[in-house]
Amino acid sequence: MNVVLMGPPGAGKGTQARELAVKYGIPQLSTGDMLRAAVKAGSPVGLKAKAAMESGGLVSDEIVVGIIADRITEADCAKGFILDGFPRTVAQAESLAEMLKSRSLKIDHVIDITADTEALVARITGRSTCAKCGEGYHDTHKKPKKAGACDKCGGELTRRADDNEETVRNRLSVYHKQTAPVIEFYRGGGTFKAVDGMEKMDKVFAALCRILG
Ligand code: ADP
Ligand code: ZN
Repeated sequence: MNVVLMGPPGAGKGTQARELAVKYGIPQLSTGDMLRAAVKAGSPVGLKAKAAMESGGLVSDEIVVGIIADRITEADCAKGFILDGFPRTVAQAESLAEMLKSRSLKIDHVIDITADTEALVARITGRSTCAKCGEGYHDTHKKPKKAGACDKCGGELTRRADDNEETVRNRLSVYHKQTAPVIEFYRGGGTFKAVDGMEKMDKVFAALCRILG
């Protein structure tokens, strides 16, 4: 089963994709996570991606399409995958369609997790993640018992460099200009559904599972 999870920054794509990956036994392919790993490692891709990511802009289509084209040929993608954060431009969506067609694959579900812009700014600027196990926290809705430490594993809580208000507003504006048209690209296709990302996380997860079956 091949799934595309869409939604503005902070809608909860990453968290939901992580849980869906466990439930359905297919990997979560997050271009954001892959690019952050490349930046951290200082690889050639990372060096090219760094400035765009820090400003909240998009990394070039060429780079992200290359990353995904390589990634979906790996063995763990044989039964399918969940794309999280890709495609983010119409050009990426077109490249993905070609990539899949040439391998006789198709997208089974495109799901848009919708959310309200002001709520997203508050959600994103308050969030932190455990560096060790990936558990997510929030300054107002989900505080850790001990400040700065993960309740589950004691790991250190970190914030993303691009989760400050100015960059978030830019990411949202980039989303409206460049990524919202991707929804229109898929909407007529019969595989498209939307779920309300303003609901509680477990409700959003249940709605996603009802669609995926
Ligand atoms: P969010 O959805 O919260 O903005 P991501 O982790 O998906 O965060 O992405 C972080 C950053 O990585 C983006 O702001 C962008 O710079 C870059 N990025 C991720 N995916 C893509 C993509 N498909 N195309 C271009 N840039 C991307
Ligand atoms: Zn942890």
